[in-house]
Amino acid sequence: MPTLTPTPRDASFPIADCEACGKPVLTYVALNDDGAERRVCVHCDTAVADHLKWVSPGELEQAGYYFGAPPADVGAGEKGGCSTGCGSCAVKKH
Ligand SMILES: [Zn+2]
Repeated sequence: MPTLTPTPRDASFPIADCEACGKPVLTYVALNDDGAERRVCVHCDTAVADHLKWVSPGELEQAGYYFGAPPADVGAGEKGGCSTGCGSCAVKKH
């Protein structure tokens, strides 16, 4: 029995422009009635152009797709440098 493995972070995903959606969309391969493969939009199943663009997960996220939970608000609470009072990176006092 095949095991589904988590998507590796260095994987590539095929995106293409969907005329119906009017934006770059993630695509997948579907089969015609005659068994021929065709690549379609994941949103509306419209056949997309052949010129696929393979993107990294990071680029895919920039296109509006997310993997798992939405990204946390990175950077919040980390402004102003070190807050541990270590003395070497504190704001200078005059
Ligand atoms: Zn579409």
